[in-house]
Amino acid sequence: MLLRSMLLAVVLGLFAGCGQTAVPTCSASTCQGCCDSNGACQSGAANDACGTVGGTCVACQLNATCSLGLCVPGGSSTGGGSATGGGSATGGGTTSTGGGASTGGGSGTFTPAAHPAYPQSVNYGGSVLAAPRIVPISFANDDTTQVAMAENFCATVGATTYWHAATSEYGVGAATAGAPVRLTENAPTSISDAQVQTWLIGKIQGGALGTPTAGTIFSIFYPATTTVSYGGAQSCVQGGFGAYHGSVQTTSGNYAYAVVPRCPAGNGLTLEGNLTASASHEFVEAATDPHVNNPAFGGVDLNHAVWEMILLAEVGDLCAQNPDSFYTPAGYQYVVQRSWSNAAAAAGHDPCQPALPNEVYYAAVPVLPDTVSFSFHGQSGSTQGVHIPLNTSKAIEVDLFSEAPTTPFQVQAISLSGTMTFAWNRSSGNNGDKLQLTITPTAYDSTLGGAAFAIIAGRSQSDFHWYLGFVH
Ligand SMILES: [Zn+2]
Repeated sequence: MLLRSMLLAVVLGLFAGCGQTAVPTCSASTCQGCCDSNGACQSGAANDACGTVGGTCVACQLNATCSLGLCVPGGSSTGGGSATGGGSATGGGTTSTGGGASTGGGSGTFTPAAHPAYPQSVNYGGSVLAAPRIVPISFANDDTTQVAMAENFCATVGATTYWHAATSEYGVGAATAGAPVRLTENAPTSISDAQVQTWLIGKIQGGALGTPTAGTIFSIFYPATTTVSYGGAQSCVQGGFGAYHGSVQTTSGNYAYAVVPRCPAGNGLTLEGNLTASASHEFVEAATDPHVNNPAFGGVDLNHAVWEMILLAEVGDLCAQNPDSFYTPAGYQYVVQRSWSNAAAAAGHDPCQPALPNEVYYAAVPVLPDTVSFSFHGQSGSTQGVHIPLNTSKAIEVDLFSEAPTTPFQVQAISLSGTMTFAWNRSSGNNGDKLQLTITPTAYDSTLGGAAFAIIAGRSQSDFHWYLGFVH
C-alpha cells in the first residue's frame, strides 16, 4: 500500500491538459519536468517534486522514489507492506500466454477485442485462511477514538461484499473478529519487525491474546508515536512502508499478523482512510498468503514476472498503485483497497476488484513476442518480453480493448526501470484498434537484467489503466 503515487505521477503528467487548470507559465509545451504550485517548471526528478511533461509536481510517498519523473517503488521487499515470503520474482509454473479474448460485454453486438492475457496470482502451495479471524491489538498510549474505529473496522470488514469480492475466489471465507485486545502497556517509540515477532510470540504463548484459531490474524495497531522498522525501512516516511504482514511460529501453531502503524493523512486519504485502507490491504494478503514459511498466493505467473518486479507479488500489491483502488464501498463507512482478481483479469474485466460502480474497464496491452531472460533479487529466469539489443529498435503491437463501448482513450508508454524511448504510430484509439509501438532501449537495469515499461491507457488524471512489459 502507499506505493500508488508511482503511476499517479505519470498520469498527472500525461493528462495535464485534461483535468488540471493550466498554469500559463508552465505547461506540457513549455516544461519537460513538472510544474510546481507557483507555476514554475521544476526538473521533475526530485522526490518531493516529481513529474514529467508539464504535469503537476507530486511528492513521492513512502517507499517510492522519483525516477525519470515517475514515483517508482524503492524496490525493497518492504514496499506495499508485504512482509511475507514468497520472495521470489517468479511464480509457479503456470503460464498464461496469448489468448485472453474476453467474452461477454452484454449489450448488443459489442465484443471486447482480443488481447494478451493478464497476470495470474499463483499459489505456491501454502494454505490460505478459510476462516479468517481478525484480532485487533492496541496499546494504552494510543488515541482511543482511533482505536475504537480500528476495532470497528476489524469487526465489520470481513462481512462486506468488498471482502468477498477480494478474497473468495482464493478460497478465503468471510472474516470474523476476535475480541479486541486493549493492552495496559504502552507501545514503544520504536520497534523492529524482529522485536514485534518476539513480543507477539511471548504474548500469544503467555495467553494475553486469547486462544488463537488457525485463521487468526493478529492485527497490531501502533499509535502515531511508534516508528516501526522492517528490513531497513521505516514506517510512514518517504522510502518506507505503510503497513505489512507476516507470520510467527509459536508452540501452538503458525499465526498470521499484520502491523498497522498510524501514518498521517496523505495522498488524498485522511489518517482514518489510510489506516483502514492499509489494514484492508494487509488483511486480504494475510488471508490469501498467511504463512511466511509456506507461501500461498505470493507471486504471479512467470510470464508476467515484470509485474512482480515492479509492484511486488501479493494480490493487494498488484492493485496498490492504482489511485482508484482506494475507495469507500457503497453501504460501508471505511476506505478499503481493491485487490487483484484472477477471475476478473482472465475475463477482461478490471483485475482490481470489486469493480467500481458503472465502471467500463479498458486498457492497452502490448503483445510481447519473445521469451527473454531476467534476473531479480539474485534469481534468474525467462519471461515474456521483447528482445531488443541496446540502442536498437523494435516495433510491437499494442492491442486496445474495452469491456463495453467507451470514448477513445489516449495511450502512453513510460520506462519504469532501465531507460528506453518510445514512438507510437497513433496516440489514441478504441476497442479493437491495434497500435504500433517502437521501443528503443538505451540502458537495462542491472537489478532486473532488462528494462521494465508500462503502457497507460487513460482519459483523465483519475481515469486510467495500465499494463507492464519487459525488454531485454
Ligand atoms: Zn502488500
